[in-house]
Amino acid sequence: MCIFCKIVNNEIPSDKVYEDEKMIIIKDINPQAKKHYLMIPKAHFADITEMSKENALLMADCFMKLATMVDELGLEDGFRLVSNKGVNGCQTVPHLHIHILGGEKLDDKMC
Ligand code: 5GP
Ligand code: ZN
Repeated sequence: MCIFCKIVNNEIPSDKVYEDEKMIIIKDINPQAKKHYLMIPKAHFADITEMSKENALLMADCFMKLATMVDELGLEDGFRLVSNKGVNGCQTVPHLHIHILGGEKLDDKMC
């Protein structure tokens, strides 16, 4: 089982800021901005190239929920969403996740 599946199943502790039946949002253990969260669907699939119609609808629900949580996450002044894929994208955990970065002005260079 991958590390994010273990976090979803509470086998590994995490700083969860939100949970519903479809996803969790946790604080990244190694933050790269003042606010750095990970939005992780509970269903395991590695990245967007493994996206099914069902999982695409699941992600739509995740994004819609996230849109309602901007203020409570301290992201009212803006944020950046990132999803790394594969070796060139420097993905380290092969379970789709969306980085949510904000809480400060981010670098205008994205890589
Ligand atoms: P990736 O490199 O796959 O795009 O992102 C993986 C992210 O997961 C990294 O930012 C890393 O800091 C974070 N991460 C890895 N292991 C853990 C963990 O056990 N707990 C938390 N909260 N974040 C983790
Ligand atoms: Zn997984």
